[in-house]
Formats: sequence, structure tokens, C-alpha cells
Amino acid sequence: MMDMKKVCTMMLAAALALTGAAQAEELFEFSAGSAVTGSSAQGAENTAAADWNYPISREILADPDGVLVLANKDHLLEKSYPDPSKLVTATVRKASSSKMQARDVAYAALEKMFTEAEAQGIRLYLKSAYRSYRTQEVMHYNRVQSMGYDDGMVQAAGASDHQTGMGFDIVSKSWTDRKMNRDFAKTEEGQWMAAHCAEYGFIIRYLDGKEDVTGIYYEPWHLRYVGVEVATYMMANNLTLEEFTEEYQRALAAYESGESWDAPLEPEPVPTFGDETDAFTF
Ligand code: ZN
Repeated sequence: MMDMKKVCTMMLAAALALTGAAQAEELFEFSAGSAVTGSSAQGAENTAAADWNYPISREILADPDGVLVLANKDHLLEKSYPDPSKLVTATVRKASSSKMQARDVAYAALEKMFTEAEAQGIRLYLKSAYRSYRTQEVMHYNRVQSMGYDDGMVQAAGASDHQTGMGFDIVSKSWTDRKMNRDFAKTEEGQWMAAHCAEYGFIIRYLDGKEDVTGIYYEPWHLRYVGVEVATYMMANNLTLEEFTEEYQRALAAYESGESWDAPLEPEPVPTFGDETDAFTF
């Protein structure tokens, strides 16, 4: 069963990669005929597109499992998202007795992280997992009613990372019934997660100092599954999912028009607030 699924996923990834390559070649041939780009004579002879030089492979970016989905106020998920057949019930240690569900692929990674954390003396508690569109709608409505206006503290329906089924609030025992704040980052559990989450395919979804990009305050307890390769790259480069999405889409677009992706090798200096507002407009 497991193997079959793996085989199917691999075949799908391969098929997607082939489709991508065929399309890219088609595009290149079209642009090569119409005297564009400053490609050298050697480049024109060679009908292959520019080399793929982005640090993440195109097979992973083709995202056969849909783990790179972006949910925020500018990218709203459908009411029907995700496919309910892909949700499983969480049985890891929880912060409350309420039933929690998660996306299959993300949950498998979560379970592994909880087990291995415990082996290292770190006891994690799952506080919140999948949240449906409808639940988010009610939460948002209640917040607006109680405040008298939308203060932005509760995400609108479709905008929550929790709706992906791959976003998790994870805490330590002493924080199970506390109101969350950034001090959680100082706990042993918070520090362990920041240091090790990428090994299991997780990122800290709402990074410190990136409030102007994500629109959300620093949440050292909210992890999001994106797969090991992507998580490792994002955490090493201090990238939000908004920034990563913009970056890899730029890399794919460059490749499809036969160009190389030339990213700055070093991250840009820390921007002052307001400099990254364009990140919302990709
Ligand atoms: Zn959360």
C-alpha cells in the first residue's frame, strides 16, 4: 500500500517534470526564432533551455503532494480545500482533548518529530492543527463582533495556514493553557523546534522581523510542513513562505523563458519596515 503510493507519487512527479521540460523547450524554441535575449551563438545552437540553477529541484517545485500551498489574505483557499480524504486524526500528545485533524503527509512528519523530540527529552504538545474554512469564518466573525471592527488578529476564512492541514501550533506543557506570545521562543521546546523542525520538513511559518511580509506577528509555536528539502532551504535563508513562493516562481518563469535564475548569493540586508510591501504583489 505504502509502496504503491510512493510509486504513484514518483510517477506523477516524473510526469510533471516531463511536461515542464516539454513546455520550457517549446517556449525556448519560440523565443529563439524571434531574435530576443542576448544569448551567445553557442547558446542559440543548443536547443536546450538554460540550466536549472535554483537550489530546489523542479520535481519538488512541481509539488505533486501539494505541500507548498500558500494561504494568506492575498491567497485565499477554497471553501472545499483540502480534500477530506487526505485528512487524518491526530493521535500525538495534545494540549487538550479536542479532536484534531491534519493532512496525511504532514501528519506523518509531525508524528516522527514528536517521537524523536521525546527521545531527546523534549515533550511537545499539539495545540491546534487543521481548521476548516467554516470554523475560521466563525472565529473571524466573532472577533469582528467583539471588537466592533476587523483588527486583523484573526485571519479571514480561506486565509489561515491551519486550513491547509499542514500548519500546527505546538507548545510545551507549561504553555498548553497559556495565551501564546513570543516568549515561547525562549523555552527549551521552542528552541528545539527552531533548531530541528526543518529536519522533519517544517518551517516556522511566521518569522520574527517578517511581520510586514506575512502580515502576522512572530509565532515561534506555529510550524508548517513544506517537505525536508524546502524547509531546510527556507530555514537556512530565513525565508517566509511568501518570499519563497515569489522566489521559486521567479526561478520557474526565468527557466521557461530560457534564462538562468540569478539570485543574490547573500540575503539582502535587513530591510527597514515598508521596504518589502511589494512582496504582497507577486
Ligand atoms: Zn497557528
